[in-house]
Amino acid sequence: MNNHVTVLEISADALQHNLDYFKQKLDSKTKILAVVKAFGYGSESVEIAKLLQDKVDYFAVAYANEGIVLREAGVKTPILVLHPQIQNLKEIVKHRLEPNLYNFKILDAFLQLADEAPLMNYPVHIKFNTGLNRLGFWHTDVPVLLTQLKQSNNIKVASVFSHLAASEDANEQEFTVAQINNFAYIVKQIYEHLGYEPMIHILNTSGIVNYPQAQFDMVRLGIGLYGFGNNEQETSQLKNTHTLKSIISQINIVQPGETVGYNRAFTANKETRSATIPIGHADGISRKLGNENGFVIINNQAAPIIGNVCMDMIMVDVTKIDCKEGDDVILFNHQQHIEFMAHKCETIPYEILTAISQRVKRLVN
Ligand code: PLP
Repeated sequence: MNNHVTVLEISADALQHNLDYFKQKLDSKTKILAVVKAFGYGSESVEIAKLLQDKVDYFAVAYANEGIVLREAGVKTPILVLHPQIQNLKEIVKHRLEPNLYNFKILDAFLQLADEAPLMNYPVHIKFNTGLNRLGFWHTDVPVLLTQLKQSNNIKVASVFSHLAASEDANEQEFTVAQINNFAYIVKQIYEHLGYEPMIHILNTSGIVNYPQAQFDMVRLGIGLYGFGNNEQETSQLKNTHTLKSIISQINIVQPGETVGYNRAFTANKETRSATIPIGHADGISRKLGNENGFVIINNQAAPIIGNVCMDMIMVDVTKIDCKEGDDVILFNHQQHIEFMAHKCETIPYEILTAISQRVKRLVN
């Protein structure tokens, strides 16, 4: 029995549509890695991975434990762990996850483990920093790195990759092209000296939209899968994947001069019908949406959030809306609403989605 009233619905049909949309933009031989870190961008990684496992070539997660969850659920697709730590490497191997080896410290640790085990041709991924300055080897590391990689047959480089810093930003085109060119130069050196040619990849969602010429062997599709393109026009081609819903628990009639919620932040200037909804900042609804900065949809009409967002509740003004206790409430069900919330919270849709806490029941349908 589903006794949860506050639920995040994930649309399998929308995910499939969005994947197909990007597939048709790419060369047919380009592989797709679906990024399912952070619970599939706040949705639900296990069911999503199961849904997509026959349709993509790779998955990526940030941390080892996220990959272990997928393996334990029976997902067999190769899984790249983007940000492993030395202390996780044993578990990574145990679950046949593929680590990103991003500096000499973690490379050395993995080579030692691979030698002791011993492993044969274990797939690893080598990341280069080409300007994001976050994780990765530097181009000056290439000679020493190549020597180390060539000495071991315990590991095999499955891919060499990098990450773009501003692929969504037209003003940063020169920088992005330089990143891509520097990456291509690094790859050339590796191909010349490694003795085999690993897969290469650099594009994320907006990279696919803006720099398709750099799709190389594979692309890493994240936010696009979840319905957000690089711009309005791309987003309009995609389907919304996340719908956040709740119900009305109680309706109060608030008299002029009375206040609603903590800190008495809302004062009624006329008789006001206030509906209380069981979702709050502990569920991922930012306090920045309180005090009429955000709204919900009830019976197809917008109801502004009044007063401060509480930990487990919000109150909304339904004076002009025909509704009753128990009626459905939509927190968001399309990309424009999520973008509006992101704008009000001075953030990006990624954060709105990943902020939906694990207390909210997920339903993939
Ligand atoms: N590749 C890496 C290394 C990432 O960290 C991310 C997301 O943060 C992605 C790809 C996917 O990016 P996007 O969601 O913009 O497609």
